[in-house]
Amino acid sequence: MADIANHLPFFYGNITREEAEDYLHQGRMSNGLYLLRQSRSYLGGFALSVAYEKKCHHYMIEREMSGTYAISGGKSHVSPSDLCNYHTQETDGFVCLLRTPCNRPQGVEPKTGPFEDLKENMIREYVKQIWNLQGEALEQAIISQKPQLEKLIATTAHEKMTWFHGRISREESEHFILLGSKNNGKFLIREKDNNGSYALCLLSEGKVLHYLIEKDKTGKLSIRSGKKFDTLWQLVEHYSYKADGLERVLTFPCPQLGLNNSKIDFSIAPRPPGHHPGQDTVARSSSLKNEYMRCGVEQGPSKDAMPMDTAVYESPYADPEEIRPKTVYLRREQLILEDIELGSGNFGTVKKGIYKMTRTEKQVAIKVLKNENNDPAIQDELLKEASVMQQLDNPYIVRMIGICEAEFWMLVMELADLGPLNKFLLKNKDITQINLTELVHQVSMGMKYLEENNFVHRDLAARNVLLVTQHYAKISDFGLSKALNSDESYYKAKGHGKWPIKWYAPECINFFKFSSKSDVWSFGVLMWEAFSYGQKPYKGMKGNEVSQMIEIGLRMDAPANCPPEIYNIMKRCWTYNLEDRPGFTQVELKLRNYYYDISH
Ligand code: AMP
Repeated sequence: MADIANHLPFFYGNITREEAEDYLHQGRMSNGLYLLRQSRSYLGGFALSVAYEKKCHHYMIEREMSGTYAISGGKSHVSPSDLCNYHTQETDGFVCLLRTPCNRPQGVEPKTGPFEDLKENMIREYVKQIWNLQGEALEQAIISQKPQLEKLIATTAHEKMTWFHGRISREESEHFILLGSKNNGKFLIREKDNNGSYALCLLSEGKVLHYLIEKDKTGKLSIRSGKKFDTLWQLVEHYSYKADGLERVLTFPCPQLGLNNSKIDFSIAPRPPGHHPGQDTVARSSSLKNEYMRCGVEQGPSKDAMPMDTAVYESPYADPEEIRPKTVYLRREQLILEDIELGSGNFGTVKKGIYKMTRTEKQVAIKVLKNENNDPAIQDELLKEASVMQQLDNPYIVRMIGICEAEFWMLVMELADLGPLNKFLLKNKDITQINLTELVHQVSMGMKYLEENNFVHRDLAARNVLLVTQHYAKISDFGLSKALNSDESYYKAKGHGKWPIKWYAPECINFFKFSSKSDVWSFGVLMWEAFSYGQKPYKGMKGNEVSQMIEIGLRMDAPANCPPEIYNIMKRCWTYNLEDRPGFTQVELKLRNYYYDISH
């Protein structure tokens, strides 16, 4: 995550606030002397330390959902270095302008944190095992999803650390800590419940102290309302460095009984000498336990495989509190529009393009508004779509990069080069059913994320699932989507619009009522399209004929050679009563299990 700043001579990496202050003092604390460091508590964030009138001031730089950087509530910048440049010209709330970079002394490299060294391998392993990708597809997935993957890996990395004992009781934790060496500062972390609270157990003068680690609404962890952290390992790193209110610093991670070398010690504390009494029960995090068992990691090739758990996978993004609606406005010079049309929709055309960032450039898809008459209603539609997309952050949903207002209005999105699923399948009939299952399962994961975040898509269909690779699908086209308020369970349309009737549940057509459950109905149709390799559903029928057919209890037949398990899921999605219809949580789980069964 810090790679973006590694080239800067005034970037010090994962140093502490105190170390930053030391460097500024060595630089004589001249007004406006500054340095940049990696945040030790916020994932992907940075901190800017500035000297002014003999005092050090520290500003937190957050990484925003859109991939930009900002001092909380401030202007967004493409990179931390852009942000620094900006503050050389504008104080904009700072104590002073940034004047002199406090460069690293000769021979000092940016300090890497314990996580930095391990994350590349962990990400690769994860993508290989969970997404089942290899070769070029694997590389592409890593590149396109790097920030999310880093965040995901970071938020589950504690599972792999020696000091993490999973769900054990208070008594067990005391027993483990008091076994073997009894050095002050010996510690472990146990999981208290499924709501994300943990306990830190620390040995001090022969007594085991238990500190509650609470998770707040935004997912941040803290002890006694102290400093907040995105991850458990950052918390351990911090308290290994200073006591900060605890009885003493964390020094010796208490290992698990029978633990082999599959766990990694991320803590900066040294390992305790000799242990391993040798039992083979391995305590695991209970939140992952079911998934480990269901998905057979225990029977699988590698014991320390990452869990095949989409709930965990999604958790870093599933919290609506984390969603910050902030539109990124791109400058026209940052975009090159290529003469390659990817498709067209109601608004206009979608073209291939290039988005130029400070150091790199990225291929993108650009939705160009056909707005010959400058119709504000059309602009408004595009802005609405952008405002939904910018709030979403999930690997199985096309990400919005920003909008640009120039000769045309443009919506800049992540590129999904292989285009819509239905068209792709029409041309590629040799795709296996395992591959189809993998893709529809990915769509169900994206939809589960929308369901959890109270978004209704309202236009879920194979034409709106785009492929990045043959093994990687993303949901797109949020033109009809709605964000529901927390007290709403459905969206009531004011009247009949231009609707994709064949994909709509009966309550949409009869009562204009749209919910995640009506998206589930559409998902059933999407599955039918996928397993019939891109055929049109209810071929040759008119919208009202389809509605009548549904009302009398008839449903589409299974596509040719469709596995019965898949057809059963489709039929469940087409349950007439929405109360009886499954939600995406259930549909996703069914698909995940089936996919697991056929692919292992
Ligand atoms: P839409 O107006 O969103 O339905 O987009 C129209 C067509 O443009 C789609 O059917 C795709 O063929 C293409 N398209 C839209 N977004 C993208 C994207 N992010 N990457 C690649 N092609 C896209």
